[in-house]
Amino acid sequence: TLSGKTAVITGSNSGIGLGVARELARAGANVVLNSFTDRDEDHKLAADMEAEFGVVVRYIAADMSKGEDCRALIEKAGACDILVNNAGIQHVSPIEDFPTVKWDAIIAINMSSAFHTTAAALPMMRKAGWGRVVNIASAHGLTASPYKGAYVAAKHGVVGFTKVTALETAKEDITCNAICPGYVHTPLVDAQIPDTAKKYNMTEEEAIEKVILERQPSKQFATVEQIGGTAVFLCSDAAAQITGTTISVDGGWTAL
Ligand code: NAD
Repeated sequence: TLSGKTAVITGSNSGIGLGVARELARAGANVVLNSFTDRDEDHKLAADMEAEFGVVVRYIAADMSKGEDCRALIEKAGACDILVNNAGIQHVSPIEDFPTVKWDAIIAINMSSAFHTTAAALPMMRKAGWGRVVNIASAHGLTASPYKGAYVAAKHGVVGFTKVTALETAKEDITCNAICPGYVHTPLVDAQIPDTAKKYNMTEEEAIEKVILERQPSKQFATVEQIGGTAVFLCSDAAAQITGTTISVDGGWTAL
């Protein structure tokens, strides 16, 4: 059980981040949710989770594209035993047309934010004598696809930074690992299914199997609960000697 631990999950008002936050709360951790917005519904999400799981859940707005904001998130959390670097965006374009602003935003949000939050969280973990850093990378942290230059570069960067964090904390009760999901069933992916089916003149089932999950041999999406469960495992005693590595949750993608 993670009771008494505080988990900070970046980019956690939807999708994988929210799924991971929910599984950590289910395992007993107090949770800090985050995104760049500061809406009533963000704070309601925290209040609802608090009622559902009986743990303390706060929502703290911070823009993960800004280093100062990343560090401020950890400071405002006040404690950070478990850090999950999850915030991420995507842009798809050939290299020669790739907008520089998109490149910079993806590198900042998907990669550099993990540097800033980790730098702010490690002193707290050291003081507590325990810590777990879980970076949500991607199958694209281990393999590449065309037109995803910034995303693939950032995710490979996250995997590299995961190893460095693990080495710098190796002698302490602190671990750092990356989860590498393949395609995960999130609202974002869900929204692409009808358009993809239309574009290829297929049924939605065919579009999922032949187009969206082309590279996922299981032909099934991973779920946010499965990513959350993997994060909980990485925070467990059974995983205390797992550090500086990646766990793929990709239905066989990287085995191909
Ligand atoms: P999503 O769009 O549902 O979630 C992204 C989260 O990041 C949201 O909560 C969003 O508000 C937040 N966010 C975006 N920009 C931010 C910023 N500047 N500051 C703070 N928060 C910000 O997408 P998702 O699919 O849940 O993706 C979450 C992570 O998982 C990403 O790092 C993504 O690369 C990774 N991932 C997703 C898949 C997949 O199939 N969905 C596969 C592999 C890896």
